[in-house]
Amino acid sequence: MAGKNYFKNDIGAKEIKIGTKHFVCIGETPPMDHPHTYYTMGDENHKHCTYCYTKFVYEPALSPEYTNPPNCFAGYLDSINEQMHEGYDKDNND
Ligand SMILES: [Zn+2]
Repeated sequence: MAGKNYFKNDIGAKEIKIGTKHFVCIGETPPMDHPHTYYTMGDENHKHCTYCYTKFVYEPALSPEYTNPPNCFAGYLDSINEQMHEGYDKDNND
């Protein structure tokens, strides 16, 4: 259950508060995502994604699935992989 938490920024927020210091930024919902990049926050409690420049800020009061602004949680590792495979299948059928 210690899967990595994936976050996206479809809404273009400059800053997203998340409830974990270990996260993966995918930028936007696949297939518009950027390379999935794993980050770990240090003592500073925040991290900029080097691809989409979103600033992620650690907020201990938030549960892992919740973000502020909301709806930036993109799921855990397994569910993301499933979504990506579905996307590739659709492209092949075209
Ligand atoms: Zn990003």
